[in-house]
Amino acid sequence: MRRSVYDDDQAAFRDSVREFLRREVIPHVGEHAEQHGFGREMWLAAGKQGLLGLEVPEQYGGSAAGDYRFNAVLTEELAAVNLALASSLSIHFDVCAGYLTSLTTPEQQARWLPGLASGEQIAAIAMTEPSGGSDLAALRTSAVPEGSGWRLNGSKTFITNGYSADLVIVAARTTPGAGARGISLFAVEAGTEGFSKGRRLDKVGMPEADTAELVFEDVLVPAENLIGELDRGFKHMMVNLPRERVGAAVSNLAHARAILDETLVYVKDRQAFGQAIGSFQHNKFLLADLVTRAEVTQAYVDQCVVAHAAGELTAVDAAKAKWFTADVQGQILDACLQLHGGYGYMNEYRVARAWKDARVTRIWAGSNEIMKEIIGRDLGF
Ligand SMILES: Cc1cc2nc3c(=O)[nH]c(=O)nc-3n(C[C@H](O)[C@H](O)[C@H](O)COP(=O)(O)OP(=O)(O)OC[C@H]3O[C@@H](n4cnc5c(N)ncnc54)[C@H](O)[C@@H]3O)c2cc1C
Repeated sequence: MRRSVYDDDQAAFRDSVREFLRREVIPHVGEHAEQHGFGREMWLAAGKQGLLGLEVPEQYGGSAAGDYRFNAVLTEELAAVNLALASSLSIHFDVCAGYLTSLTTPEQQARWLPGLASGEQIAAIAMTEPSGGSDLAALRTSAVPEGSGWRLNGSKTFITNGYSADLVIVAARTTPGAGARGISLFAVEAGTEGFSKGRRLDKVGMPEADTAELVFEDVLVPAENLIGELDRGFKHMMVNLPRERVGAAVSNLAHARAILDETLVYVKDRQAFGQAIGSFQHNKFLLADLVTRAEVTQAYVDQCVVAHAAGELTAVDAAKAKWFTADVQGQILDACLQLHGGYGYMNEYRVARAWKDARVTRIWAGSNEIMKEIIGRDLGF
């Protein structure tokens, strides 16, 4: 089905992103997997291409596109290359940029946004802790007032871009015993005394992604690094998480569709019993099912993109898009792997790597169970 969500400007932008990826990223995917990260050069090249400043005002080196559809186009194209690329860059140009542009003072913007747009400062956001990620209100990292600043102690885990990050948005408890009402957000810069990074975590999939533990031991954070309002960090996260979830939905589906397209080519070519694999009725019906599932889901995701661009996307609709696309992605990739037979289980085949990569999308950015919790609560339960 023809999609109507994007106009000529976004189509031209998509072409430029594809060209950038062909030139600067795709030739290096093997290296990215080996080094568990994308390397500074890629970040700087993406910054130079204007991909990291979609949210950043022009005065700070960005393009402030002012239309979420550009973010969605970029996320789709990154996810079509691989999921790690989409997650690492989206956390930076979309998620962190969202916090750093909407909650910051002009002085903070002048300090952080130019590096964000140029790729000189890689950003990460650290909410999850070893003791739990779903129950954010129970987080334990503490920030105690000291002099004009804050003394930060605690640890975070599973942080995307964590190892390479120059600037980390950290959620910490500022009022003990106050639950969700006692959490604040801080920017912690790499190199600050007491802030250390653990190893790059060894994951089931996405070897290209840098995912790390972060440790804060008596880190002195200056008062001017508080992001947003004191004790309102939980509220700030709840306002910003739908952005992360619609981005996840865009990425989940684009990733699955890229592999489905490749599989359609494969099953036309691969023969068994003297005919193309895809032409057996079982497989033909399966492919019809997958293509329908992808297109119908796309219609919902596109509506979410439009709603988010208009500032109207609800947290509940973002939760629906996030869990449903993660499930659809899992169904599509599992079937695509099966259709590749033994080759589908070989790491040299993209479908095998994509299948492993995709398992995480039902867990991160709020697990599918937590998404259903949000939807269920909205239903009055
Ligand atoms: C590769 C990767 C990258 C990530 N990147 C980041 C990042 O950049 N920043 C960040 O802050 N975090 C990040 N995360 C963390 C991620 O958001 C958490 O893993 C996720 O929120 C789940 O938290 P948890 O792992 O502590 O699981 P838990 O909270 O311990 O949950 C375990 C299981 O219990 C289920 N569960 C929990 N509560 C309920 C409930 N009320 N009802 C039903 N089931 C429930 C969960 O759905 C899950 O299945 C990342 C994770 C991964 C794997």
